[in-house]
Amino acid sequence: MNMTSENPRLRFAPSPTGALHIGGARTALYNWLEAHHEGGALVLRIEDTDRERSTAENVEQILDALRWLELDWDEGPISQASRAERHAAALKQLRASGAAFRDAAAGKDVEAWKAGHGAGRGYRGTPTEEAGAAVRLRVPDEGATVVVDLIRGPISFPNASYDDFVIARGDDTVLYNFAVAIDDAEMGITDVVRGDDHLSNTPKQLLVLAALGHEPPRYAHLPLLHGPDGKKLSKRHGAASVQELRDAGYLPAAVRNYLALLGWGTDDDTTLMSTAELVRRFRVTDVGKAAAIFDEKKLRWLNGRFMREMPLEEYIAAVAAHLDRDPADPALRAACEIVQEKAQTLEEVWPLIGFLFEPPVADEVAWRKVMKPDSGPMLAAAADALASVEPFDPEAIEAALAPVLDRFEVKAGKLYQPIRVAITGGSVSPGIFESISALGREKTLERVAAAVERLAAAATDE
Ligand code: GLU
Repeated sequence: MNMTSENPRLRFAPSPTGALHIGGARTALYNWLEAHHEGGALVLRIEDTDRERSTAENVEQILDALRWLELDWDEGPISQASRAERHAAALKQLRASGAAFRDAAAGKDVEAWKAGHGAGRGYRGTPTEEAGAAVRLRVPDEGATVVVDLIRGPISFPNASYDDFVIARGDDTVLYNFAVAIDDAEMGITDVVRGDDHLSNTPKQLLVLAALGHEPPRYAHLPLLHGPDGKKLSKRHGAASVQELRDAGYLPAAVRNYLALLGWGTDDDTTLMSTAELVRRFRVTDVGKAAAIFDEKKLRWLNGRFMREMPLEEYIAAVAAHLDRDPADPALRAACEIVQEKAQTLEEVWPLIGFLFEPPVADEVAWRKVMKPDSGPMLAAAADALASVEPFDPEAIEAALAPVLDRFEVKAGKLYQPIRVAITGGSVSPGIFESISALGREKTLERVAAAVERLAAAATDE
């Protein structure tokens, strides 16, 4: 990307007005990937100039989300508000040179001016010495401001259509587009990668940079994220914030993989890639122009693949952390071994292994569906077979139960589903022989006996 100059400097610049959402997380990731790919630096800038909406809790939540995603930064977090003196100095410089001026015009004055100057014409202000008037940047009438976007190519904005726009309020506190432009320049940012909802701000930032005599950075505006229904991504499409993804039991590596594919390499948005591979292959210039679809079903599928392919020790650590349990607990380790193939998210793990730790809670729908009149005698026969099997491991258990199938002349499910409901409470669990073995002989026999009893009681009731 950067043929002539030194290592690039990127920045992620969230406004701490809420949690970090999926779109913001993708922006952070793309900046991080580009910085790592190019051997550059990533600066974290917190755009907290909106003093009412920016809270310390929101900042903490964003940092927490980035840490969970394992997206680290090289510099910062730098508070934009803390740079007020730098912004004031730039304002002073522009006022001294005449590039910016106070203008007493109110909104209605601007409208009246525009009404008299024809449609699409940007407002041109009148300098005043009146204290307390807002400060506007002088925008040339001629020419165009061209955003050379790394994704969309050059986009030309005619200067005449831009107002002499307000860069500072009457009390000299600066406005957003002014602060961003100064910060990008003074932090030596070479590449601005952000959502394309900011594209209309970019000409204003370029005009500020030009007025201050700064070289502009390169820009890449990322296409928006949509839900599978084609609408702008929102809460109704599932998890919306990074914390919600974490609580839903996704793995950071899977989330990085999936987010990376949203807009980049979209020929196949289910390709499993390690983060090292993403760093090696990612180029912001390869991001597509079309809106990308965030489909939680695909994330879930991809997450399941990461879960299955993780080394067991890592898997145990992740499950233990998610469940807030001791990773050294032998029962948890045994449970992890049998569930790893089965769960697509960490959140799905406990419902599949909870029966190993707690008495099962009968799922009545599953009970009615699975338990038939002949289930009682079959379960009793299974209990007999399990009472003496040695060792109590999956192979021996399978071998011991096979004759029961033959004796009752039934297919596997007719016996194994009732056993499953009896020992786990429900009809979904890890492999039945593994489940029986992990539960142990004593508890298995107890639970099967309880089911036989319930079936017998139900039979006499009829
Ligand atoms: N603070 C802006 C936001 O959170 C981003 C600004 C930028 O990247 O230039 O949307």
